[in-house]
Amino acid sequence: MDQYYLLGSPVAHSLSPAMMNYSFEQQGIDARYSVIDVKEDRIGEVVRKLRAEGASGWNVTMPVKHAMSLLCDELSTASEIGGSVNTVLHRDGKLYGYTTDGIGITDALARAGEPVPGSSVTLLGTGGAASAILIQAALDGASDITVFANRPASAAHAERIAEKLRPLSDTKIRIRSYKEPGALRESLAQSRILIQATSIGMRTAEQNGTDCLIPDASYLHAGLYVYDIIYHPAETPLIKMAKEAGCRCENGYSMLIGQGAASFRIWTGCGMNVEEVRRRVFPS
Ligand code: NAP
Repeated sequence: MDQYYLLGSPVAHSLSPAMMNYSFEQQGIDARYSVIDVKEDRIGEVVRKLRAEGASGWNVTMPVKHAMSLLCDELSTASEIGGSVNTVLHRDGKLYGYTTDGIGITDALARAGEPVPGSSVTLLGTGGAASAILIQAALDGASDITVFANRPASAAHAERIAEKLRPLSDTKIRIRSYKEPGALRESLAQSRILIQATSIGMRTAEQNGTDCLIPDASYLHAGLYVYDIIYHPAETPLIKMAKEAGCRCENGYSMLIGQGAASFRIWTGCGMNVEEVRRRVFPS
């Protein structure tokens, strides 16, 4: 039986084992997916053990995505640019590292009839998830991406990624600040897709200072597709606002399933039945 794992901490409440084991079973694949709680100080030791045992592959979540990128023999272009790995394929004694978070959302947008290639995108955030999305959207050929950064250090981080992408992609990438007067309204007016990839919206305004980075519904237009990568709560203040503005919109469940489906494809060569997995594994 092939063994697959999720490494990170905390991992006990992850829905990935249910998603993967259901898909292995449905497709008659003799494999099992389990979790291993591990932080950065033990990742090297755990990976050595998995290599020795002949584990077929593993997913990697916070806080060990960067550490994992340093332990792989080969990295995908997206992993190399982002310095981050969330999927490892162990084949013929070598570790191949990939990042599927960005693929998860670009696949979800394509399924929603909003393909990223050729589209103009406003991206809120510069953290781990936002960086993966920026990289994949540029590699996939978005026409332009305007990234909004919270702090100057975060803007510099996004600029370093943009620099690495420029030789590989024709996508125009601009890094802006929320504080620049008119910048957010102007970007949204010209965009086809808004991706909210910060942690704002997960907790209440009292806990975070704000619960929505878009000041009011007048910033949105009905032709804008609004994707909030947060899925808990299922209806964030941004999703509520998007509905009021008449926008088509979606929360982050499809990205979560999409990144798992991309890992499943890397390991098995098979597609995951994402609609069925969503119905069976995820709360409605
Ligand atoms: P992260 O690396 O910690 O990044 C958090 C981002 O939020 C940073 O860009 C940060 O900007 C920004 N931010 C925090 N407070 C802010 C504020 N007051 N104003 C503006 N921006 C602010 O986290 P992550 O891993 O990218 O995850 C972000 C969210 O996405 C989490 O809620 C996570 O649960 C969710 N997520 C969903 C999926 C999915 O599959 N749907 C996948 C991954 C993550 P600064 O650093 O500049 O403050």
